[in-house]
Amino acid sequence: MTDIKSMFPAELEVFVKELGEPKFRAKQLYEWIHRRHAASFDEMTNLPKQLREKLSENASLCVLQPVTVQVSRLDGTRKYLFRLPDGNCIESVFMRYHHGNSVCISSQAGCRMGCRFCASTIGGLSRSLTAGEMLGQIYRITEETGERVSNVVIMGSGEPMDNYDNIVRFIRMISGEEGMNLSQRNITVSTCGIVPKMREFAEEGLQVTLALSLHAADDETRKELMPIANRYTIKEALDACAYYFEKTGRRVSYEYSLVAGVNDTPEEADRLIRLLRHRNGHVNLIPVNPVTERNYRESAPAAVQRFKNQLEKNGINVTIRREMGRDIDGACGQLRRRYAEDPQSVSPGETVEK
Ligand code: SAH
Repeated sequence: MTDIKSMFPAELEVFVKELGEPKFRAKQLYEWIHRRHAASFDEMTNLPKQLREKLSENASLCVLQPVTVQVSRLDGTRKYLFRLPDGNCIESVFMRYHHGNSVCISSQAGCRMGCRFCASTIGGLSRSLTAGEMLGQIYRITEETGERVSNVVIMGSGEPMDNYDNIVRFIRMISGEEGMNLSQRNITVSTCGIVPKMREFAEEGLQVTLALSLHAADDETRKELMPIANRYTIKEALDACAYYFEKTGRRVSYEYSLVAGVNDTPEEADRLIRLLRHRNGHVNLIPVNPVTERNYRESAPAAVQRFKNQLEKNGINVTIRREMGRDIDGACGQLRRRYAEDPQSVSPGETVEK
């Protein structure tokens, strides 16, 4: 079966031609998949029946099935657990902000980066997602909510730079005018810091925001939290961010999850100030979301505030990220993890208000 959902318009033309069909059918097909989010070939009523049959024999639309949707009573955040055609499950999150609706998508089923505080990595990597499967998360949510999605963050399970080609393809497709035509400036890609890939990404001619998961201001602490720090130093990662800024003009954000007693001390804040003082960028603080399998605790609100004030006083651009959906397994990979361990604990097929 050919994965036509991941094809660029020009590739779809070639595919349609190979089926012995005229070129304009590719345009119709692309519109059905990427603008009308068709779930089956049968819906594509302006295509001849015999072509629809040919398509169902040769091509797959890889439509995602929601296993469950959890809705936060606190803020209306919706967390989706989707099943892929091969049985793998992934999570996506829909969040409402005053500046528009945002969807956080997964880029891989599982993850092999091994960050100690992250639930996505506990079972390792199953596989990378195709561009079509990343688009599918957004299409499905758009249909299910009936609301426009204006921002996309690639901050769900998985390491985007470990699925490089598909991520770049996904970004080009979702921002393409034949598709959702989403502004690239409204897309954020978060990476744990795979330096050579970040540099390659800077050369793609894209206008997306890059976020670096920093989480520490010295290499020793970072190594304790993130195995990737054994491969690349903080300096190398920050230099790659500077290169990204130089090439794209886009300011990089730094993610900093605060873990009590590990990376939230005044000394660590001092080191962070020294690191970032002469760099362009923005720090996003978030108290670590405790994961049952891990023994890290979140910083107390007072410690978070103190850390923020210290950075601010020294001219660093900083915000405390509003936590969304904390009551619905909000952190990366928590819902998928719970489902894998005990499917009964997740109400299948229904929307659960928590
Ligand atoms: N692999 C990418 C995207 C991962 S998730 C990356 O590493 O950036 C997006 C962000 O959430 C990352 O900054 C990640 O480190 C952070 N994160 C993961 N688990 C978390 C948890 N339990 N609490 C707080 N932040 C977490």
